[in-house]
Amino acid sequence: ASLYRIDGWGDPYFAANSSGNISVRPHGSNTLPHQDIDLMKVVKKATDPKSSGGLALQLPLIVRFPDVLKNRLECLQSAFDFAIQTQGYDSHYQGVFPVKCNQDRFIIEDIVEFGSSFRFGLEAGSKPEILLAMSCLCKGNPDAFLVCNGFKDSEYISLALLGRKLELNTVIVLEQEEELELVIDLSKKMNVRPVIGLRAKLRTKHSGHFGSTSGEKGKFGLTTVQIVRVVRKLRQVGMLDCLKLLHFHIGSQIPSTALLSDGVAEAAQLYCELTRLGACMEVIDIGGGLGIDYDGSKSGESDLSVAYSLEEYASAVVSSIRFVCDSKSVKHPVICSESGRAIVSHHSVLIFEAVSAGQQHETPSDVQFLLEGYSEEARGDYENLYGAAMRGDRESCLLYVDQLKQRCVEGFKEGNLSIEQLAGVDGLCEWVVKAIGASDPVLTYHVNLSVFTSIPDFWGIDQLFPIVPIHKLDQRPLARGILSDLTCDSDGKINKFIGGESSLPLHELDNNGGGRYYLGMFLGGAYEEALGGVHNLFGGPSVVRVLQSDGPHGFAVTRAVMGQSSADVLRAMQHEPELMFQTLKHRAEELSSVHKAGGGGDKGNEKLAASCLARSFDNMPYLSMETST
Ligand code: PLP
Repeated sequence: ASLYRIDGWGDPYFAANSSGNISVRPHGSNTLPHQDIDLMKVVKKATDPKSSGGLALQLPLIVRFPDVLKNRLECLQSAFDFAIQTQGYDSHYQGVFPVKCNQDRFIIEDIVEFGSSFRFGLEAGSKPEILLAMSCLCKGNPDAFLVCNGFKDSEYISLALLGRKLELNTVIVLEQEEELELVIDLSKKMNVRPVIGLRAKLRTKHSGHFGSTSGEKGKFGLTTVQIVRVVRKLRQVGMLDCLKLLHFHIGSQIPSTALLSDGVAEAAQLYCELTRLGACMEVIDIGGGLGIDYDGSKSGESDLSVAYSLEEYASAVVSSIRFVCDSKSVKHPVICSESGRAIVSHHSVLIFEAVSAGQQHETPSDVQFLLEGYSEEARGDYENLYGAAMRGDRESCLLYVDQLKQRCVEGFKEGNLSIEQLAGVDGLCEWVVKAIGASDPVLTYHVNLSVFTSIPDFWGIDQLFPIVPIHKLDQRPLARGILSDLTCDSDGKINKFIGGESSLPLHELDNNGGGRYYLGMFLGGAYEEALGGVHNLFGGPSVVRVLQSDGPHGFAVTRAVMGQSSADVLRAMQHEPELMFQTLKHRAEELSSVHKAGGGGDKGNEKLAASCLARSFDNMPYLSMETST
């Protein structure tokens, strides 16, 4: 197990047990010994129809552990509670989960349920995400935030405003200055007092891969000039009291608490300035960035590791905010964070199977090398090779191997050698290379998986994840291998592993004995499924086929296909759009009748809700350009 550093990256959820299998500790360090789950047993149950209650599912398989999810949420909350208590901080922590990290229906529902007692909420960044967040939060704590980030058009903003009518705690975070006009207009039209936040572009820059959007030239957020203009505008229209939240996000996988403290302190200064300018500030939202230790080194020296614990992260955040606010005599804000990776990464494991290992060494007995039929030169090479082998001269052997092979390939290309003769030479050369101990020991293990679908970040950004056999950990692996997937794409292989290795220690396959070899990819619960499927719930784009034409326009559209609607992509993630629609509509009807009974007029609320929802489910998730600014 130490070969794979399981004690590092797996702690406290994964370990090797006495049977040599991976054990899952579902409650982290609170797991009692009898609560350990043997991952091989899970796989057997899920896949083997002959085992009792076996489900006959096919691999690859994602195994989810909601207990791990619950434990992650509780650990995050208690890390902040502890920091707040020990530092005498005068407010509380109330986090949100960024839905984009994994939009799976059951994960979101679990998070809302598990986090309900501590007001844990959701963050959305697109219209289908806000729809799913709204419908899930109907069953959550009414104080839980629904932080609405991302680029917004009027449809998105209407949904967020409708959220407030439905008594959900939605906060519209301005990502671009242009969104303000829409918020002002629509909130008047819809007769809602919005809660507004703004995303600040901080100067603090995270230099790792995930920080490329941070800093002054970052892609998102408002500059100081824009912030001042937003405040002025809100004051002008009598809505400055609606500005309550300051948000920033300096990037994922923040490597150290030093960088974190720097960013949080800068944001805290901005928060205090907004208070001074008259905004009724209440919340500081520090975004995501809480990292996890993929390589188990706890060094923080690369994007794969972070040099702090949950407790140290929380402590750094609380102390930075407290210090700045105290020095400016500003009331301590509620602290919100948008941790995605740190919440969902551990709870799901991708299991896949090695189906074959490409044997690189041909067995020379299969083919015969007979000197007849080869050219004079080839015979000469052979004699030299034989002489070098007899002398034990490794270097000359390799030289003559190359020379002989090259000469014979040329002979084959010219049609002078048969395939059997070429195979004879290849077999002989393999045998010699193996005999002198110079053969490449790295095998290619073919795995029943698509790297693009299941580990897209490996392909896209070279992100590494721990990959480990989930059994046989009590046997020494005698081979080394790279993993090659089933796709016919040369990028569909994994040849970099944590620890900087270009191959993985692996056990030899026992295909003849019917033994199966299972591998697990760990810590991939955030982003991988969402990216491989429908990232941010943006479905596939619409497609038009355009042909040159001699017609009046010079071209003709021969085919036009609309992309997936929000309802379609939600359905793809197992949500039930019809049910979600009914839940939200019902909520609007109920509240409307309560308001009517109480004498409060909110005419047309149900109709507005129904049409706003219907449109959002039916339309594509992308910005509808006719309404965006
Ligand atoms: N919030 C925002 C605005 C983000 O862009 C992201 C991710 O990039 C997150 C939260 C989640 O970050 P993490 O997974 O590092 O917690």
